[in-house]
Amino acid sequence: MSNNILVINCGSSSLKFALINPQTQEALLTGLAEKLGHADAYITSKYDGVKEVTQLDEGNHAGAMHAIIATLKARDLFDQVAAVGHRVVHGGENFKASTLIDEHVIAEVEACAKLAPLHNPANLLGIRTAIECFPTLKQVVVFDTAFHQTMPEHAYLYAVPMALYREHGVRRYGFHGTSHRYVSAEAAKVLGLPLDNSAIVVAHLGNGASAAAILNGKSVDTTMGLTPLEGLVMGTRSGDIDPGAHAYIGAQLGLDLDGVTDLLNKQSGLLGLSELSNDCREIEDAAAEGHKGALLALNVFCYRLAKQIAALTVSLGRLDAVVFTGGIGENSSIIRAKVIEQLGFLGLTLDAAANDAAIRGKAGKISDAAGPAALVVNTNEELMIALDTAALTA
Ligand code: ADP
Repeated sequence: MSNNILVINCGSSSLKFALINPQTQEALLTGLAEKLGHADAYITSKYDGVKEVTQLDEGNHAGAMHAIIATLKARDLFDQVAAVGHRVVHGGENFKASTLIDEHVIAEVEACAKLAPLHNPANLLGIRTAIECFPTLKQVVVFDTAFHQTMPEHAYLYAVPMALYREHGVRRYGFHGTSHRYVSAEAAKVLGLPLDNSAIVVAHLGNGASAAAILNGKSVDTTMGLTPLEGLVMGTRSGDIDPGAHAYIGAQLGLDLDGVTDLLNKQSGLLGLSELSNDCREIEDAAAEGHKGALLALNVFCYRLAKQIAALTVSLGRLDAVVFTGGIGENSSIIRAKVIEQLGFLGLTLDAAANDAAIRGKAGKISDAAGPAALVVNTNEELMIALDTAALTA
């Protein structure tokens, strides 16, 4: 009996999936359904190096799941699915680790939806659809927030009335936990460091971006907070901003709080600064041609990242390594070089040739001297979800 794990990462209009063999850690089938809820929804899948794109007859999440089942059946993989693992963005304070799904867990995830109204309802839709489509299989949830539940209270509390925390859960939760957990463990392996005696900062830089301080394998602080808006400059998100700015921006633009929040989530970050794009690659290309907005966006992005990495070292007490991951972290030698240069005072150095070579899946150490290491690790959240699911359903 095969024990392949079907990993589901369900967004409001997309559904990413992978069938992973937890023993070999190989992804047998991967894919993405997009534009769900629209007439032109489609699904892309990749099997044995061959990509296939199909229009979805039923352009919703159930339709996407039915298409995944049809693809699994066509490849004789359907009977090889042993369990299903789901990514869930917010697990609140009750979930400190991945867990098997039952009615109680579903109710808790529903209760956390007020903390992540854009994400948890979509994640739940994926869970419900998968339960309908795979009624006999065990299912597991893996939370983005769980890894950060080890943060001490001086790191996770905001300086606001404590009643807000006690009665409404207002605190810092942190996100990208699955990536931070995987990447920090991989980094320790690469460096030959015992994970239980290591001090690592991971910078996960994708469209969303967060950095985390990981001491002896446990998260002790991170840059995202109650929501994924806090912290670093991101593709379209502002990251940290004076909370007093909300009222001022609202008054100047005639926006209510939802309008201001939307502006800070969708029109800010690299896009807002560059007035060009939220896509780092496009910004780097434009900056190379002298585009002023693109140069400014890169400068602010790198300065804020270096500043946050330095701040996170306070929670570690020492620094063994800074690790770059995510689409930008794994590919942008320009950003890595700028950030490491600004962190030179912490003893970080750059091996320029290794840094230039670390792109498109090539990872490894990019520092060349004694002192804290800098390295690139390719994140693999799907694998982490598959491994957790396999462990909980074995
Ligand atoms: P998500 O958070 O959506 O998973 P990714 O981790 O895929 O995002 O990261 C997307 C970002 O990575 C985009 O800003 C993209 O421009 C950037 N990126 C991808 N390849 C490169 C590259 N070669 N150089 C610079 N940035 C890159």
